[in-house]
Amino acid sequence: MEILKVSNLRKVYHTKNSEILALKDINFSINKGEIVSIVGPSGCGKSTILSILSGIVDKSFGSVIVKDNSNLSYMLQDDALLPFRTILDNCLIGLEIKSMLTEERKNYVLKLLKDYGLEDFIDKYPSSLSGGMRQRVALIRTLAVKPDILLLDEATSALDYQSKLLIEDDIYKIIKKEKITTIMVTHDISQAICMSDKIIVLSKRPAIVKKTYNVTLTGKSTPLKNRKCLEFNKYFDMIWGDLDE
Ligand code: ADP
Ligand code: MG
Repeated sequence: MEILKVSNLRKVYHTKNSEILALKDINFSINKGEIVSIVGPSGCGKSTILSILSGIVDKSFGSVIVKDNSNLSYMLQDDALLPFRTILDNCLIGLEIKSMLTEERKNYVLKLLKDYGLEDFIDKYPSSLSGGMRQRVALIRTLAVKPDILLLDEATSALDYQSKLLIEDDIYKIIKKEKITTIMVTHDISQAICMSDKIIVLSKRPAIVKKTYNVTLTGKSTPLKNRKCLEFNKYFDMIWGDLDE
């Protein structure tokens, strides 16, 4: 069932002296429960798409249809945890700002923190966490508002390779278990293949959708294991080829 449809999306940025056509004509749709990756060369307009979906940036033309009053929540590249707030208080900040903080929602956040290995850090401060743990906290903060659609922008790009592989598994388990439709932007082809149901490949700027892949892996499991699937390299080579041109 379709939850989001983007049609003929166009974005022109106006700066003091010039105009930059970032998105030329973007079309795609997302089904409920899907994890979809958007990949493309640096500067092609990936983050612009998420910014438009989340309402931070205005589109120049086209339509974005979100079905069933679904709400979107955006997790930015930088985890942006506040150093002077505890882990719990960092996770509650979105709810506070939106005046949505209830006992029930607070309990949901506490449950997520416990379920995903952060129980001992609830009253600690961000400085005592590893990079991977900070990303998990940032994800839980984003999930606190119970979004129907999660937007992730380069969620692992600030992490070292090993932490990245671990947090990929963590993020995947959380969004699958909580059944959250996810649109993630990444420049990392491997990450897109091992985490997604569908991959949208953008051209270089001004972006159009160059190709769309449904990812079918034999014995599909968690991201770390998916990297060992038979078809993994085939997808990698195809997408690498798309980006090359
Ligand atoms: P990506 O996330 O794929 O690296 P972005 O969506 O961040 O790309 O940017 C796409 C293009 O739009 C880039 O050329 C970038 O310089 C330009 N751009 C992004 N944001 C702005 C802005 N606020 N004002 C002007 N140009 C922008
Ligand atoms: Mg970006």
